[in-house]
Amino acid sequence: MTAMRPASSSAHIRTIGIIGAGQMGNGIAQTAASGGFQVLMLDVDRTALARGMAAIDASLERLRARGKISAEEKMRTMARITTGTDYSMLADADLVIEAASEDEETKRSIFNSLCPTLKPEAIVASNTSSLSITRLGASTDRPERFMGMHFMNPVPIMALVELIRGIATGEETFAAIRDLVGRLGKSPVEAGDYPAFIVNRVLLPMINEAIYTLFEGVGTVEHIDAAMKLGANHPMGPLELADFIGLDTCLAIMQVLHVGMGDSKYRPCPLLVKYVEAGWLGRKSGRGFYDYSGDKPVPTR
Ligand code: NAD
Repeated sequence: MTAMRPASSSAHIRTIGIIGAGQMGNGIAQTAASGGFQVLMLDVDRTALARGMAAIDASLERLRARGKISAEEKMRTMARITTGTDYSMLADADLVIEAASEDEETKRSIFNSLCPTLKPEAIVASNTSSLSITRLGASTDRPERFMGMHFMNPVPIMALVELIRGIATGEETFAAIRDLVGRLGKSPVEAGDYPAFIVNRVLLPMINEAIYTLFEGVGTVEHIDAAMKLGANHPMGPLELADFIGLDTCLAIMQVLHVGMGDSKYRPCPLLVKYVEAGWLGRKSGRGFYDYSGDKPVPTR
């Protein structure tokens, strides 16, 4: 965003709208604001917006305490973010990244409300973990300016963004978003428009299998996580990671894989289904395979 920056194919992107202020939405908002972009964050739920802003504040405060940013930079970054619940706030957005719950109907109804308020040239991207980009794009008024932009959790820390073309995505759109990912300090990887793309196609069946090993009594929560950390050198155990992603999101991805690939090997573990039915969604609800109400997470099985 400085005068020294060479002209790039995303140079026209200055204001980024974000739909959904949950763990992904607020992480994308923080990353974009830190990169100097004006950010407009929308959610249906005002408490989610307040929680999202508090999460950004806490994350920037950790960076300030470690000397990575100054107090002034933190203040400037926070000041670049505006929140609201009304789609008219997105009228000036050059790009809108949809990061609401992983549910196709929810995303479709968002695009219905969003598209009429947008500038004709604005790009729309979805942070979906698994849904068809072609199908989501077809539910907008601009499939050629629509694509998948799949950030990883936690967004400010994780380097990867998967980029997914729908069948109608235009090359100019794709090039602009690839360029933007670099300006956000992230590394893009291109993935085909197949259920769950690359990372979750590989990761979620592993997590689902870990839940089956718990379900079948092969190991306890603690033993399964310890085994994968010590035995496969994973930084987090699969059940800990499932709680971190959100069990509702894990189930939604497995359902998309199961239906989309038509293969029984993707059958969501019944125990995962039960946990979601109980509202035990992992860290974000305070309970999943671990209970997060105390100082230290305690296994729930
Ligand atoms: P989350 O549950 O933390 O947040 C979802 C937010 O969407 C909530 O604040 C909710 O109020 C909001 N929302 C729901 N319906 C809405 C609507 N109609 N309009 C506006 N806002 C609405 O979920 P998350 O983990 O942030 O996931 C969001 C998206 O990012 C999903 O598509 C998910 O698959 C994807 N994703 C998640 C992860 C992860 O690790 N959790 C990683 C990459 C991508």
